Parts: sequence; C-alpha cells; structure tokens
Amino acid sequence: MSAQVIDGKAVAKTVTEDLKERIAALAALGVQPGLAAVLVGDDPASHTYVTSKAKACKRLNLYSEVIRRPADIGQSELEDIVRNLNGDSRIHGILVQSPLPKSIDEMAVTMAIDPSKDVDGFHPVNVGLMLLGRPGLLPCTPHGIVKLLAHGGVDPAGREVVIVGRSNIVGKPLAAMLVQKASMANATVTVAHSRSANLPDITRRADILVAAVGSPKMITADMVREGCVIIDVGVNRVEDPGSDKGYRLVGDVDFEACARKASHITPVPGGVGPMTIAMLMHNTVAAAESISRRVD
Ligand code: NAP
Repeated sequence: MSAQVIDGKAVAKTVTEDLKERIAALAALGVQPGLAAVLVGDDPASHTYVTSKAKACKRLNLYSEVIRRPADIGQSELEDIVRNLNGDSRIHGILVQSPLPKSIDEMAVTMAIDPSKDVDGFHPVNVGLMLLGRPGLLPCTPHGIVKLLAHGGVDPAGREVVIVGRSNIVGKPLAAMLVQKASMANATVTVAHSRSANLPDITRRADILVAAVGSPKMITADMVREGCVIIDVGVNRVEDPGSDKGYRLVGDVDFEACARKASHITPVPGGVGPMTIAMLMHNTVAAAESISRRVD
C-alpha cells in the first residue's frame, strides 16, 4: 500500500480562504482582527514561528504586532505587557511564544491573558471549556489535526486513536477533543508517553496514530499497523551539510517506510505545521467576532 499524503498546506489554504468572508463582515463593522505576539529571548525557531504568524496575518489583512523582549525580562514586566494587551482594543488575540526562559513562570503568564483573547487556547478557562465540550478557543495544533483528518475523509468515530506524547499543547488537548461525544470525535483514545511500557505494542493497535514527541523518525514501520492513518506532529532539525541552512526538518515518523503501510500520512514539513498557523488565524477572527459582539 502507498499512503495518501494529506497536504497540510492545501487544507490550511482552504481554512484561511473560508475566513475571508468573516474578515470582510468584520471590516464592514469597522473591526480589523488584531493579533499580538510576545517574543522573549532569541530562540531561532521561536523567531521563525512568530515571523510566519505575522506573515499569515498580513496575507489576511489582519492587524499584527510583535513585542520583542530580552531573555532577562522579569515576571511582572512580562505579565504587565500581557495585561496591557488585554486592554488594547486593536488586539483580539494574544500569544506568548514558548519556550520562555526558565526564570519565567509560564503558567502565571498564561493566566494573565484575558481568556477571550487567548488564541493559543492554553488558559485554564479555555482548557476547561474544551474538556466539557463547550464553545471556547481551542488549541491550534490539536484543532488543526482534527481539521486535517476531516479533510482527509478520516472520521475518528469508533476508531482506536493512539497519541504518542502527553504535552499540554498537543497530546492532552487532542485526546480531550477526540474523546468528545461530538462530530469528528467519538474515538477510543490512548495516550502514550516516555513511561509507557511496550510502546510498539500500543502503537500497532492504532487505526489513527499521532506522533507528538520531538524525536526524529522514532516511529518506524514495524510500529504501525497496515492501513493506519498517521499524523506526524514532530518538527526536528537534523544536520544536513548538503542544504543551505546546514539542517533539514524531519518529523517523528520515518515517513518513507511508514507511508508504504499507512492509508494516509502527513508530511513534515507541510503537514500539521501550516494547520497550526491557519487555526491561529481562525481563533483570532473568532475572538474578534465574539469581542465585537460583546462591545455591541
Ligand atoms: P513535549 O512537551 O516535549 O512533549 C513530548 C512528549 O513526548 C512527552 O509527553 C514525553 O513523555 C513524550 N516522549 C518523549 N520521549 C518518548 C519516548 N521515547 N516514547 C514515548 N513518548 C516519549 O513536546 P510537544 O511540545 O508536545 O511537541 C512535540 C513535537 O511536536 C516537537 O517536535 C514539537 O516541535 C512539535 N510541535 C509541532 C507543532 C506544529 O505546529 N507542527 C506544534 C507543537 C509541537 P513524558 O511526558 O513522559 O516526558
């Protein structure tokens, strides 16, 4: 079998095209959705992510602002920046790019964000709403994965989903979404992690396997079932002296080998990554809509 490659770039384009009408309707009310990104320190990957998010705003004619601060910023100064953005009427979405320096209490910074502007969906209010299956701002990467499955024609209902990785930004929220009694959910979900015994036995059970670990090509062909759907969240830089940058990006899945067994697979790059940004745009527009309704 040779897998159907789910093209994240194409699906992301569909998601953002669908936003244009909503952005135009907001413009008619004099509202331009605005996103503020707070970038602390000089992590090169964080700079790349924030630049991509600002470019995506520009393409959709959203207002965007990047606030850069050095790694030695104090906790209260960072929380004050967030609180100022909470009160800024041009801004409907606030994201604080992770990782933050070790000296910063990341959860306290997240808690300082107004939940209605929490476009990353990390605030406990939004996490709670998600768990309860109530409307709120959903975290972008897991929400993007659900959209990718939908566009690939893969309904998780009744299927065994195995998620490798239990982070608060990918593994846990994705499990919470897929287990809901709702459309594009109703799955039987297992979450594996570094303490899981016999990982290959667990991953081989999966109808849908999601790898969110951060370990290059750790999912090998012998770990996947014939005909399964594979979503690769991992983004890993591996040395590549032949490339201009000296490195290339690979996922957590051995793509070539696993694609021979899977029915569907996402590539890295060009799979989950573009969806994360598309869902951020979606959340920014949704936040602008609900804030402007509240102001009315
Ligand atoms: P994370 O917070 O570092 O979590 C990694 C998870 O993998 C942890 O739960 C860890 O288990 C588990 N793990 C580590 N080694 C393992 C092993 N040998 N076997 C099984 N599980 C293992 O990572 P994250 O933030 O979720 O990100 C994961 C990857 O996705 C990274 O490559 C990241 O760059 C990428 N990512 C991509 C996007 C995107 O938009 N494309 C978005 C977010 C993240 P423990 O909990 O036991 O430590």
